[in-house]
Amino acid sequence: MSIANPQNAKFSNVITPAKIDWQMDDTGNMVPVSDEFGDVYFSHADGLAETRHVFLAHNQLSERLTRLAPKQCFTIAELGFGTGLNLLATWQLWRQLRDTHSHLADARLHFITTEKFPIPYADLTHILALWRQRAPELSRFIELLLAAYPPLIAGCHRLSFSYDNLTVDMWFGDAADSLSKLAVSHQYSSVPHIDAWFLDGFAPSCNSTLWADSIFAQMQRLSGPRTTAATYSCAGIVKRGLKEHGFQIKKVKGFGRKREMLTAVMIDADGFDASHDNVNVNIDQDIDRDDKYQKTTRTIFDHTVVIGAGVSGLLTAWSLANRGITVTLLDKSAPLAGASGNPRALLAPKMTPIHHVDEHLHTIGYLYSNRLYRDFNQKASQIDTAPVLEPTGALDLLIKSNVGTEQIADYPNEMATTLPAKQAQDLTTLKNQNLLDNLYLPESGLVNPQALKNIILTHPLIRFQQLEVNKITETEQQVRIEGIDKNHDTITADNIVICAAFESHQLDERIFDCRKIRGQLSWFIPTVEQMANLPKIPLKYNGYCALFNAQTGDSELNTVIAGEPYLLLGASFIRNDTDTNVRDEEHQISRDKLITAIPEMASIVPVDTSKWQGRAGIRTQTPDYHPIVGQLAHSQRIWTMSAMGAKGYALAPICAEALADMMLGSFAPLSEAMLARLSPNRTRLQTPLV
Ligand code: SAM
Repeated sequence: MSIANPQNAKFSNVITPAKIDWQMDDTGNMVPVSDEFGDVYFSHADGLAETRHVFLAHNQLSERLTRLAPKQCFTIAELGFGTGLNLLATWQLWRQLRDTHSHLADARLHFITTEKFPIPYADLTHILALWRQRAPELSRFIELLLAAYPPLIAGCHRLSFSYDNLTVDMWFGDAADSLSKLAVSHQYSSVPHIDAWFLDGFAPSCNSTLWADSIFAQMQRLSGPRTTAATYSCAGIVKRGLKEHGFQIKKVKGFGRKREMLTAVMIDADGFDASHDNVNVNIDQDIDRDDKYQKTTRTIFDHTVVIGAGVSGLLTAWSLANRGITVTLLDKSAPLAGASGNPRALLAPKMTPIHHVDEHLHTIGYLYSNRLYRDFNQKASQIDTAPVLEPTGALDLLIKSNVGTEQIADYPNEMATTLPAKQAQDLTTLKNQNLLDNLYLPESGLVNPQALKNIILTHPLIRFQQLEVNKITETEQQVRIEGIDKNHDTITADNIVICAAFESHQLDERIFDCRKIRGQLSWFIPTVEQMANLPKIPLKYNGYCALFNAQTGDSELNTVIAGEPYLLLGASFIRNDTDTNVRDEEHQISRDKLITAIPEMASIVPVDTSKWQGRAGIRTQTPDYHPIVGQLAHSQRIWTMSAMGAKGYALAPICAEALADMMLGSFAPLSEAMLARLSPNRTRLQTPLV
């Protein structure tokens, strides 16, 4: 992984994991100490009480969270995630408040945290085991945090704990860099801001970067009037930094034997006109006006129409519904009737050299989708549907890849690694293939679109309606959608999101008229003899193949028989062809790709494909290969998410989160630069394709 490669030292965005030392504290307990900074993460005896005193109480969290209105989101930003103790304490408080205040059922908490030296999973497990013993009330949250803890690579890792209305964004990398990537663009319908800061760097004497001018400047940029901050430190550099960047500070009694600590409130935020209100704030006075401010600046709306029920539309509906928005999901035929309705999709990332990973949508999307689909698996068992993600792992033969084995070695092994050839042979059961170079993706798997659809459509706020839309009219107050049907149905909504893939342009000409690519997948039932010789895990080459067992429900979308095994082969790639009839010659194309990559399959996979089944869909692609996500030019209420190419199952979940955040005025899990690359109005989309 990355630290092993000294070459990576020159890249500031390549993660060096924390090295943990254990030392005895003055109460005789062993405590974790950062090898890098030589300081303790927390005091064993009273670390949790200190967290509650400094960060929770002195940001007045209980009071402020209790006052949230339905659907309102409160955003906390933390400098220094460390062991996650602050998050765990905040999470516990949030759950307690939601359990006792029914009006918080739809309110949300967004916890954004930064960490330059994330703690490896094994050390974190060990550290948090201490807190399980000392504070059993944290046990459940520790379990959930560890289950979602991301691999230690740079960039934003979004963890969605939707049952708690809690979103955690872990930005791995230098805090000043990460904060500078948060978008507060005024182009969106409302401007996000941080409500409370937890300043929890190690002591300024040993950790100057977390108390630098660049940090305070970001705090000013990202705060609104009456944003608060709290820190245990009263060092001069902290007081000065806060004061010079718009905060009014106050020393208050510190925790335990500590004489003092600092609280602060923003009175002069960048980009906000504080003059409309009395800014002569007393930190001790209640922060009622904070709520008033939020209600007037953050957009809260009730009803959104999503047009198109493919993977983009389904995931957009899911992200909005989880924020309390009622969604009407429209499609001219049925959910997953188009290119997203394949029997299975292989969730395996396109890799990039590690120093590009923090801005690499495929990796960010893959990791987020992987976490989401594993959460969906738990929901699936509750509603008696098949699992959404079958965790098979996958082996990439590196025939068409952006990375070689040297670059794969920079990744954490649990995410991507190269297997010894013998092990790769055992795993695949291929006999004659040279498997010296390979990319093994242990967390990869097969997505079951039908199961995903079942789960999303059980959300109480999502309603599917079949309607072929032929007219969209935007006024200042609403959007009107008219359909072609015998009743001349008209639907009104606060917003619409167009997720109609290659037909999006027909619904609104401002959406780029993308390249259309026909892709056909093929599948057949192998004989017992063939089965014995087929690769046992999904393989990627310049196509892919995967064995799967058809599940109950699969036949709603495709010609398969529940309980039977299939070999799935993909895919053809025919430009400017929008016909969706299954073609025998494209079964041959997929067979040829397999045999060219793995010659020993020639004698196993039959030449006669006349009994094969298939499905052809139209994929939509932009000239720069990025999807289109965002608000349309000169519109307040029309948004789009489309052009996922063949990567919808990897990209749609994170793009839907970013879109919902932009619509609601929250911080997106993608950098400002990435959001610009995805914008429907980007320069690259100003010239039509020829
Ligand atoms: N909040 C943590 C908790 O609840 O366990 C404790 C944080 S610890 C006191 C400070 C953290 O800041 C360390 O994990 C350290 O690695 C991190 N850190 C130090 N310099 C940083 C920087 N420039 N950017 C981001 N994180 C940094």
